[in-house]
Parts: sequence; structure tokens; C-alpha cells
Amino acid sequence: MFDLERIKTIPIAAVARDFGFKLSQTGAGRCLLPGHDDKNPSFSIRRLNNSFRCFACGRHGSVIDLVIEMEGVSFNEACSRLRDRYVGAAGKGRPRQMRAPTKVIDVDPPVPDIVADQEVFGWLLDQSPLLASGRDYMVSRSISHATLEHFKVGQVANRQTLVRVCIERFGLSRLQKCGLVTDTRFGPELIFPSGYLLFPFVSQGAVQYIQARRSDAMPQRRWISLAKLPPPIFNLDILATGVTTVAICEGVTDVLSAHELSRAALGLLGASSKLSKEAISGLRNRNVIIMADADAAGSSFAQRTSKSLQALGVTVALKSFPPGVNDLNDYLRIKRGNKAS
Ligand SMILES: [Zn+2]
Repeated sequence: MFDLERIKTIPIAAVARDFGFKLSQTGAGRCLLPGHDDKNPSFSIRRLNNSFRCFACGRHGSVIDLVIEMEGVSFNEACSRLRDRYVGAAGKGRPRQMRAPTKVIDVDPPVPDIVADQEVFGWLLDQSPLLASGRDYMVSRSISHATLEHFKVGQVANRQTLVRVCIERFGLSRLQKCGLVTDTRFGPELIFPSGYLLFPFVSQGAVQYIQARRSDAMPQRRWISLAKLPPPIFNLDILATGVTTVAICEGVTDVLSAHELSRAALGLLGASSKLSKEAISGLRNRNVIIMADADAAGSSFAQRTSKSLQALGVTVALKSFPPGVNDLNDYLRIKRGNKAS
């Protein structure tokens, strides 16, 4: 037998490196998983929970899963290979059949733990009511005042003022800990610039996460997310209601558009959104429709999401848009006779 807890903590950075992955300081690099000819750095590791994920081929998991994927072996075999290669003396006396030499790996330096701070997030939203510029921009995309109010969309008025009152209230270290404030050479700075719209991810009455968006149509830094927190599902509370049909969309704007069209929708932010157990059980007895964008990324999102939901016992239908319509917001705008962007 092996010490599973010990094996799970073998630093994934070292294991990936030994497999030939060239990872940056932040743990990102080209995916070398078998069958994926990655041209971009789609692969990344998270030291926080010692896991990996490829945003292109969708594979993810623990350090044990990495060995299973790379070497095509069973769970038990992966564990025993990891033990033999990395847990030093424990491997003595066993036949050497592995590629990498047996060695003891230093533990990675401690990483500050980023945590969702519901009180801070909620307070920040309370200080940041929607402004005319943000409301006008969203209305230009056919999102009504009522929908903006329903989703409690806010907006940063002045980044400097906001960071100052936040620090007075909560202290700098707490704000850094939840990822809202970073240190720059000009001092502590809120990660969301002035003018950005704030979309709260509310679950059971508390703000779990915030995503920010430019309040104009310029493409630069369109969305800003809390970098180190995995985004939860947007509009999760819809599953606490009696709706029988739920659409799964790729982002916040699509969920707001669905609401305009009187449809209940959940937003999964790319491949990084995780479907929690509650979400999965909440979807099992409902009609689930995946409404992905009409582009390559959208179709891969649809395939991946429907596959993983079906594996979890959820029945899924895929919905495609009419020609010329790229996403649900497009669809809404055309329906309202508001085609200009
Ligand atoms: Zn991959």
C-alpha cells in the first residue's frame, strides 16, 4: 500500500517538469498530454491544490491523474510510480522501471491562500452603484434597467477612492488575500479600473466572486477576473427556483440576455468554471440546453460541457443559433431590432 495523502502532495510542478513540460513562473505552458498537439500555452498547474488543467483539451486533475494521462497507467500503478520516483526511501527494494530517477523533492514555497471573502465582495458592491455610463452601455446591448437591477450590477466610480475606503474598512492584507488589491510601484491598487462594470456572482445571498467588464465597446482588457480564485457558476441561485428548463451559457452577458428573453440560464466562464455537486444535482431533473457561441471555442465548450454533464447523468440538448448570430446577446439584439454594436 502507499501513503495516498503523501503522494497527492508531491509537487506537481516537479512532476510536470520531469515529463518535459516547460512551465512559466506562474505555472503555464504548452500542453504535452498525449493526443494534444498544443500550439499555445493552454496547460497550467495550480500549486494551491497541486492540480493541473489544460484549457484546450479539457483534461485536468491531481498529480496522480497527470501520471495516469502521461503514461496511460491505472490509478494504482500511477501511485506506485510516483512513490518510487519521488518519495525517497519508500521506493527502495522495488524494481526500477521508471524513466525519472528516484529523488526527494523540496516542497514548493508556501503560496498565499486566496479565499473568496464574501463580506469584502458584498461591501465593495454596495459602495459601487451602477453609473449612467455603464447603464447606457448595457442598454445599447439590449439589457434593460430591470435586468441590471436583478443581477445587482455595479460599477467602479473611482478606483483610488474605492481602494482607500476599502483599506480603511478591511485592512490591506485582507484585501490582498482575496485578490482584490495588488501591490504596484504606486502603492496598493484595486484590480478593477475606474468605470468598469461589476458583476457579482451571488450564491445563497452572498457574493462569492466578482467579474468586471469595460463599460464601452473597446476590446482591450474587456473582462477582468479575480486572478487566483476559480470562478464559480454565474446565477447559480436559479437552481433554487422551480424552473424546468435551464440554459447553460458561456458568460455573464449571455446570462443577462437570457434573462431578458425570460429564460433561466447559468454562466460557465470558459473551461475554468467548475460544476459543483449541488449544481449537478440541481440540473439532473431539468431540461438543460447548452447555448454556446457560434465559433470554434464555443463548439468546443459545448462538446466538453455536454460530455461532462452526460457523464454525470444530466440530459443535455445542444442549441445552435441561426446563421449570422454569434451568441445569445446577438440574438437578443436582433430580436429587438438593435443590430448596431
Ligand atoms: Zn491539452
